[in-house]
Amino acid sequence: MKYVDEYRSEASARQLFAAIRDATTRPWTIMEICGGQTHTLIKFGIDNMLPDEITLVHGPGCPVCVTPLEMIDKAIAIARRPEVIFTSFGDMLRVPGSDTDLLAVKAEGGDVRMVYSPLDAVRLAQRYPDRHVVFFAVGFETTAPANAMAVRHARALELTNFSILSSHVLVPPAMEAILGSPDNLVQGFLAAGHVCAVMGYWEYEPIAERYKVPIVVTGFEPLDLLQGIYMAVRMLEEGRVGVENQYARAVVKEGNVPAQAMLREVFRPCDRPWRGIGIIPLSGFGLNPEYAAFDATLRFDVETVTASESEICIAGEIMRGLRKPNDCPVFGTDCTPEHPVGAPMVSSEGACAAYYQYGRV
Ligand code: SF4
Repeated sequence: MKYVDEYRSEASARQLFAAIRDATTRPWTIMEICGGQTHTLIKFGIDNMLPDEITLVHGPGCPVCVTPLEMIDKAIAIARRPEVIFTSFGDMLRVPGSDTDLLAVKAEGGDVRMVYSPLDAVRLAQRYPDRHVVFFAVGFETTAPANAMAVRHARALELTNFSILSSHVLVPPAMEAILGSPDNLVQGFLAAGHVCAVMGYWEYEPIAERYKVPIVVTGFEPLDLLQGIYMAVRMLEEGRVGVENQYARAVVKEGNVPAQAMLREVFRPCDRPWRGIGIIPLSGFGLNPEYAAFDATLRFDVETVTASESEICIAGEIMRGLRKPNDCPVFGTDCTPEHPVGAPMVSSEGACAAYYQYGRV
């Protein structure tokens, strides 16, 4: 397969494993931030073939996993309203709220629809002017530009029946929360290449300096990850801090400047609770006051919705790199993709789903 096979070459992988082995003299704990990277690492068994000294821990970069329970409960409350067409990407429909999920609301007769793009939701608002269409806007800096564009498009169309439930989260504050925690184990990061394709990596340099860690912007194919790990190990072994870019075929330091300008136009940073982790200051995107008409939380009275978390789920500790999915007492028994207790077992980017899917039960 052109453009993919090149990044899955067995011979190149063997060379990189050998280079990592040669470079490693001490134990190191490295966190890959993105759930997509976690899935590649587990699917190809890369973590098991690394030297014993290298521990990979799985970060908070799964958008579905970090969406706060309270926000899912708000989504459910909005989706139950008869005038609403509630739209979302597929994974979000199955994530458990405090009592139920969006798929169950749909089964009860709620008008909940899966869409592939926020612009599909805008089109629904055009097609059904007597209904109100809400799009559940979750995700990191990667998905935020498309959602900002949808809001701008809805305003250009003068739609008054479209809004978003924004639960966007930002990577750099989460990295700082992990590194600044007294129980932190992470010594180096593989940063998510697609986030950096939008935002660049200029934001990461002060973090690397402040916490004295190496950060390697890394892609998603097996060889990307092996090369990213090799670069991180070299930096760790040589005592170098800073940011290096493994994913140069997609990422430049300044990122996608027009996309960043659009994000600043539509959104402003706000404090955001992360599921299983807690509130991280200025780690989310809320709508700017000029776009308040498109804010579903202002349009619908859901501020009083409160949530109660499962006491069993250790997702927060997993996403902070303190534990692994198979440390969870209910992993693969009471918590499976068919009957998930927590979000990381539901999402296609969740660490628990990766461990389950690829036989780490
Ligand atoms: S296995 Fe299930 S309950 Fe345990 S941490 Fe993962 S999602 Fe939570």
